[in-house]
Amino acid sequence: MEAKKREVLEQVKKVDDPELPNVSVYDLGMVHEVQVEESRAHVTMIPTFAGCPALDFIKKNVETAVRELSWITGCEVTFSFNEIWSTDSVTEEGRRQLKKHGVAPPPDEYTPGEEWQVDCPYCGSAYVSMENVFGPTACRSILYCRSCRNPFEAMKPVIRDKTLAR
Ligand SMILES: [Zn+2]
Repeated sequence: MEAKKREVLEQVKKVDDPELPNVSVYDLGMVHEVQVEESRAHVTMIPTFAGCPALDFIKKNVETAVRELSWITGCEVTFSFNEIWSTDSVTEEGRRQLKKHGVAPPPDEYTPGEEWQVDCPYCGSAYVSMENVFGPTACRSILYCRSCRNPFEAMKPVIRDKTLAR
């Protein structure tokens, strides 16, 4: 059983976030649980942001990837809205990939309500300015590096603090 679960997880790891090419949904910390019962798999995922689009797309891609396993006869993917995703869930590999694609990973430590320190993913400079806090999605901001003059995106920090959820 454990071997099957691992096989399913390996397939899930191949699925990238549609908005962040080459950053897998696994490395973004979206995979909550994988269950396998005989030839059926059930993958529970955590949406990164309730407002983030593309959840249906991710669901379909995960299902397709898991169904590539010859012994799978059925795969169900569900999103759990009871679990709270936080940017702490992004793996080391996820942070590395984000940087590679010009997206500054979320900060390691963040105090809610405070501005967070963002370093340029290209040159590492801390001399950056917030150009547009409302990035292409609710999850990201657009910043501008004053050192290498590149615009880049930053993933906004989200912390797992239920006292802030209203
Ligand atoms: Zn820079």
